Parts: sequence; structure tokens; C-alpha cells
Amino acid sequence: MTPDLTPITLLAQAAAADAARDIAYLLAAFCFIFGIKRLRSPKTARAGNALASVGMALAILATLLHADPGALPLALGAVVLGSGIGAVLALRVQMTQMPQMVALFNGFGGLASVLVVTGEWAQARTAGETLAGAVLLMVGLSALIGCVTFSGSIVAAGKLHGAISGAPVRLPAQIALNIAGVVVALALVVVLAGWAGPGWALALLVPIALALGVALTVPIGGADMPVMVSLLNSYSGLAAAATGFVVDYNLALIVSGALVGASGLILTAIMCKAMNRSLANVLFAGVGTADSTGAAGTTAEGRAVKSADPEDLAIMLDAARRVMIVPGYGMAVAQAQHAVRELADVLTARGVTVMYGVHPVAGRMPGHMNVLLAEADVPYEQLLDLEQANAEIETCDVALVIGANDVVNPAARHDATSPIFGMPIIDVDKAGACFVLKRSLGAGYAGVQNELFFADRTLMVFGDAKQTLQKTLAALKEL
Ligand code: NDP
Repeated sequence: MTPDLTPITLLAQAAAADAARDIAYLLAAFCFIFGIKRLRSPKTARAGNALASVGMALAILATLLHADPGALPLALGAVVLGSGIGAVLALRVQMTQMPQMVALFNGFGGLASVLVVTGEWAQARTAGETLAGAVLLMVGLSALIGCVTFSGSIVAAGKLHGAISGAPVRLPAQIALNIAGVVVALALVVVLAGWAGPGWALALLVPIALALGVALTVPIGGADMPVMVSLLNSYSGLAAAATGFVVDYNLALIVSGALVGASGLILTAIMCKAMNRSLANVLFAGVGTADSTGAAGTTAEGRAVKSADPEDLAIMLDAARRVMIVPGYGMAVAQAQHAVRELADVLTARGVTVMYGVHPVAGRMPGHMNVLLAEADVPYEQLLDLEQANAEIETCDVALVIGANDVVNPAARHDATSPIFGMPIIDVDKAGACFVLKRSLGAGYAGVQNELFFADRTLMVFGDAKQTLQKTLAALKEL
């Protein structure tokens, strides 16, 4: 039978294909939304991640099925290559390197948006067409935000990885220069949209936006870089959403970009709130470096500390009725989560009530500690958030601080001169006794000395957290 190729049939087929693609995009959007919703609790987070991945696979499949068949081999090749690189990176990356990995992903997301919109612009130009003003506006906005995201994310990843110094870099008249950069870039976007997309405007916009990304990121101290990464994540979403308007009003890009833009912004606000700082303070105050100072067993500014060994810790834990474990970035570095769980199991078997106080910004990214503790199968019921932990801490005989530093520094409560003043902390100094497991008296991420180390009830147990915990466990089993 010869196929019916009348114009009406062809039009109907095209409309049906468009509708099928849009339904697939809508389903993908549902997967993203319900996936994100499930990320709210450690119990459902894995399922949420899987659901969002299914949504992404659906969106990619719908796009490929709808693509020009001639472009399919190239598109499939790109999918295979990109997925391969992503899988290798994800398998190799250590948990402590996750923030810089996220920064790189954001940066490449921004770059992809720039490449897509400039490609669309060039294609229209080659075909002798002029894109509509509204579409050109989105080309300009996507190029601007995408370039800022790309260069800013590369600097952020470099700082987090230690390839670039974590110290804030300040240039003369930096804020004025940044404002001037934003104004010029926006003016170029307006020219692009209002004057039928002149090539020179795009050619100027790209380097200016790239420079702006660097200029906005270098003044931010290492301690605040995760907040900037979250903000850049939001930017990458906005760039993707703008790109969606350029490529044939692509629903999947518009919806997923808007979701990333909004969720990145909400996460940024949550992180600022957890540190009790304004976004302006994070972006412009230049707090902290990534460098830790101090040496094992030394005293800072001549002040003495009391130190204990794992055997002393085992004796105290054996005598305790209630113990609160407070993990921090050092637990992630030492990969001590399984040793923590083992110790907690032994204590629980001996009738000790064990709980975990999890600070919202402990570690280097939101949920960092929850992920590690979940990996070690720590029961969710034992995890307390900041408020719950502080409500319980005075009833605890022992607070066991494992590689946490800034999030337990009492100076945040009362020292108005401290850069972390006002940040809510877990009040471990209010427990019966506080054992701090870390390698030295070195400062934490914010670069400030911790007065907890010198407090009356504090005992320092110097050494790698995992080794200390293993020795403590062995000693406990002997008792
Ligand atoms: P900190 O960075 O304050 O301190 C971590 C401590 O771990 C260090 O002082 C280090 O001391 C110790 N450590 C490192 N390696 C080991 C090891 N192998 N064994 C034992 N200890 C080790 O961590 P916190 O979790 O307390 O605080 C997080 C910081 O990150 C805060 O300043 C927070 O504001 C910031 N931040 C976090 C964000 C998040 O989303 N989580 C976002 C933005 C900022 P030593 O070298 O002596 O061993």
C-alpha cells in the first residue's frame, strides 16, 4: 500500500509527533518535580534521584526521536561520549571532592547553553533569516548567564580543589567594576534583541560575561564557595530555561531550567540562613580561606589544651548513658562513617543511648553528613537536626565531635569580632564532657581558631578520626 503523503496527512503526523514529544516532556517534568520532592528526606532521597534520572532519560529519548534523522548519529555520539565521561568522573570522584564536581557540572551546563544559542543564532544568520526580537533577547540572556556560570564555576571548582588559592581576591574598585560590567553586558543584550542581532554585540557580550563570572567569584573566600556554587547552579538553570525559548520553545528545557533556577536559589537561601548570614555578606565580605593552620598537639597563642588518648575515650563512653556524635568535614576526609557506626552499635548494645547531631552546613555541601551516615546505614531515627540536637545536648554525658570544627565553635555565640559570629552551632560545650577527634589544633574552613579546644570540659584526641575510632572500639571491647 502506498503511504498517504497528502499535505494534510503530513501535517497531522507532524502535529501528533509534536504532541507525543510534549507529553513525554510533561512526564519528564513530573519525574523532576516528584524526584526533587523526595530529596527532602534521606529515607526517600535515593528513590528521588532515580526518579529524576528516569525523567532525564525520557526527555533525552523524546528529543532524539524528534530530531532530524540526519543529525541523529552525531547526537547519539555526543550522548554516548558525554555519558561515558560523566560515568567515569562520578565513579572516580571522592565524596570530599563532590562540591567541585558539582561546580564543574554547573559550569558545563552554562557552556552548553551558550553553545546552543550561539549555534541557533549562527544558523539563522547563515540561512539569511532574522530571529524575532523576543528570541534574540533570550539568545542574549542565555549567552550572558551561561558565560558567567561557566567561568565562575571554573574558578569555584579551582578554589574548592585547591588549584587556586581559597583566599578572597580583591581588586581596586571591584564592586564598581562589577556593576559596570553588568550594565554593559545588559546593554549588549538589549542591542542584540532590538537591532536584529548584530554579530559584534554577541562577540563583545561573550568575553565580557566570561570576565564578569571570574570577577564575581574571585572575591569570595573558600569558606563561602559552596554557597556560590549553589548560586551558580541556579544561574545554569536560568541559562537553560532561556535556551529553551530559543530552540523551538523546548518545554523540557524551559521547565527543567526553571526548576534548577528556583531550587538553586532556595538552596542558596537555606545555606545563608544556616550560617545566619545575608547573601550580600557571603558574596562581598570575603570570609575565610580553604587553608587550615596549626600542628598536632601544639597550643594556639600559648593556651593549653587537655588531650586524651583513645583508651580514655573508651572508658568515658563505657560509663556514659547518653552520647551525642557530632560529625563534620573531618569525618568525610577520614572516611570514618563506618567506624562511627560500629562504635555506635557497640555502645547501643551496652545500653547507651546514641544520637547524632547533624549541623546543616557540616561538611562541604548541604546534606553532606546525612549522605555519609546513610552510606554507613545509620538509623534515620538517630539523626537530630540542629534544634533537636541543642535541645538534647545538656542531657548527654559525652559529646563526641568527629572532624567538626566551625559548626561547634562557641565563639559564634558571643564573639562579635569572629567571622562566624551569629552562625547557629551545636552547643557541644554544654555536654558533660566533650571529646574532639581531629589531627591538630588547626582552624576549620572559616580559618578561625576554635575556643572549644581550650574549654574546661573539652579533651582533644589527636589523630586521624578513623584510626582514633578504631582504637577506641578496640579499647572498649577490652573493658
Ligand atoms: P570544618 O571545615 O570547620 O573543620 C573540619 C576539621 O576536620 C578541620 O579543622 C580538620 O582539622 C579536621 N580534619 C580533617 N581531616 C581529618 C581527619 N582525617 N581526621 C580527623 N579530623 C580531620 O568542618 P565543619 O564541618 O565543622 O564546618 C563546615 C564549614 O564549611 C563551615 O565553616 C561551613 O560554614 C562551611 N560551609 C559548609 C557548607 C555546607 O553546605 N556544608 C556550605 C558553605 C560553607 P585537622 O586538620 O586538625 O585534622
